[in-house]
Amino acid sequence: MKIIKFFSAKRLHRFIVLVLTGSAIISCKNNYYSQADFSNVPKVDAHFHLYTGETGTLEMANKNNFRLLGINTYSGDCEHVADVHQWSKNARENYPDNFEFIATFCLEGWGGPGWTDNTLAWLEQCISDGAVAVKVWKNIGMEFRDNESNLIMIDDPGFDEIFFYLANKGIPLTAHLGEPKNCWLPAEEMTVKNDSSYFTRNPQYHMFLHPEFPSYEEQMAARDRMLQKNPDLAFIGCHLASLEWSVDELAGFLDRFPNASVDMAARMGQLFYQTAENRDKVRNFFIKYQDRILYGTDVTDRGGESESFRQGVLLTWQRDWEFLVTDNKMQSNLINDGFRGLKLPKEIIDKIYYHNAKKWYKIN
Ligand SMILES: [Zn+2]
Repeated sequence: MKIIKFFSAKRLHRFIVLVLTGSAIISCKNNYYSQADFSNVPKVDAHFHLYTGETGTLEMANKNNFRLLGINTYSGDCEHVADVHQWSKNARENYPDNFEFIATFCLEGWGGPGWTDNTLAWLEQCISDGAVAVKVWKNIGMEFRDNESNLIMIDDPGFDEIFFYLANKGIPLTAHLGEPKNCWLPAEEMTVKNDSSYFTRNPQYHMFLHPEFPSYEEQMAARDRMLQKNPDLAFIGCHLASLEWSVDELAGFLDRFPNASVDMAARMGQLFYQTAENRDKVRNFFIKYQDRILYGTDVTDRGGESESFRQGVLLTWQRDWEFLVTDNKMQSNLINDGFRGLKLPKEIIDKIYYHNAKKWYKIN
């Protein structure tokens, strides 16, 4: 009886107001992760290259609640593709909760008898070994030529059967096509330092030096024509689909192709650059396209890596986490200007770091 008396009328009202205000403050505070949450939250690095049978980086990732998606890439020879496939298969068997992999195929013998059938048989094998997707690389459009010396572009009819097969099987295509727009500029005009250093070290891919190759716009148009031919093919555009220089352009791409998503690998500098210019615009882009962006780094473990390599990977992961979850003032060696973190709500962070990778790559 006393309790009822205590809570009578006005007091009860005040008590309810207090409880509601209190829980609103708590839930508001809990709506965001902090830097300290980094190692506790389940995450996927959806763009990783495990080019070794060594497992030190996998162990380190595991400790920090990172699951790795290892992407095989035809950037060397066909033998390397087979080696990486074997290492990936082993890692998947030994770390079933922490590692998934993506297969690729070679272009040797392109246009010759049997290339399509052999490639389909190889992909069938990779998928039955556990591959969750198939990757194509920028050497399509920038390097490989057919028997008449024409550059093979991604919308070449020679790929039609391969992409129809993937679409029918529900296997996504992961694609690094073209390059950052900076690649068509002189090194001193590039917006981020990782681009100027990469293209200075790899002049064969620095398109400013090779005006005889297709333009940036032609690379993007070939990709779009391929997607128009294959509306049922799930597509993950690596490196912000080479539209890293403008979240507006990237939004346009995602609007045009509802079956496409993008990973952020190796393009954080471009996001920092745009955030320094207009933070609200970048933040609004992440909010609007929260279901179609995957976190990834493009870290490559070639084996024989030192402890300082792993420390560097951890620092990259922590820097990106700070940028996405806090509104800290930050500096990065990738760009000149300072910028503030995006402080995205938990729900969006969980999608970018985890649920989107699981959904787009159909990982359990
Ligand atoms: Zn990569």
